[in-house]
Amino acid sequence: MVSIALDGPAGAGKSTIAKGLAKKLGFIYVDTGALYRAVGLKFLKLGYNTELNCEIEPVLKDTKVDIRFTNGEQHVFLDGVDVNDKIRTSEVSMMASAVSAKPAVREYLLNMQRLLAEKNNVLMDGRDIGTVVLPGATLKFFVTASAEERARRRVLDLKAVGEDADYEKVLEDIKTRDYNDSHREIAPLKPASDAVIYDTTGNTLEQSVDELFEKINQGLKQ
Ligand code: C5P
Repeated sequence: MVSIALDGPAGAGKSTIAKGLAKKLGFIYVDTGALYRAVGLKFLKLGYNTELNCEIEPVLKDTKVDIRFTNGEQHVFLDGVDVNDKIRTSEVSMMASAVSAKPAVREYLLNMQRLLAEKNNVLMDGRDIGTVVLPGATLKFFVTASAEERARRRVLDLKAVGEDADYEKVLEDIKTRDYNDSHREIAPLKPASDAVIYDTTGNTLEQSVDELFEKINQGLKQ
């Protein structure tokens, strides 16, 4: 099976780019952030905040996260319920970042991600795909963009799901998430030593998809 790791910070455009690429390649697109978001939603539903003053393992024992594909589109299920339309809010973003720093949570989601790559040709997007989840991935990319550009894009995304977004607040949240994600002890956000760094600042979506598609084709030929 072919596996392509697409790592990078929040809002670099990974998921939109990955969807376009997966279609062109005929691969399954796995958005691993959605898994952390589903776990974050569970803790929110239980009334916890990002300080997570609780035992993590007992909650995980009582949690079922599933991933299913309908017409190539990923749906994440939390305790049997499709939560795709519940996990894109700012509140869930911050909670996903908090739970993702917990080793028990990363361990809990690791096998699911590896199994998907064993059974399918995948384009997997996340933070630690090239470094931890699939260190032997066929190709690895680290997709990034300036924090300001990422905040601008995020404001548009939030408006699309009906959230009134303030640019300065979004920028601050992005910087906080970047800091949390790259400074946590376990699986910090960083490019794998063999990853190709790709900066999308100033690109249109089509440009990024086309250029990465070209790089992937070249890489797969080698
Ligand atoms: O990619 P997305 O922004 O949806 O991810 C939400 C959060 O989940 C990230 O801020 C990050 O903390 C966490 N995450 C992670 N490892 C991954 C994917 C996401 O830690 N592979």
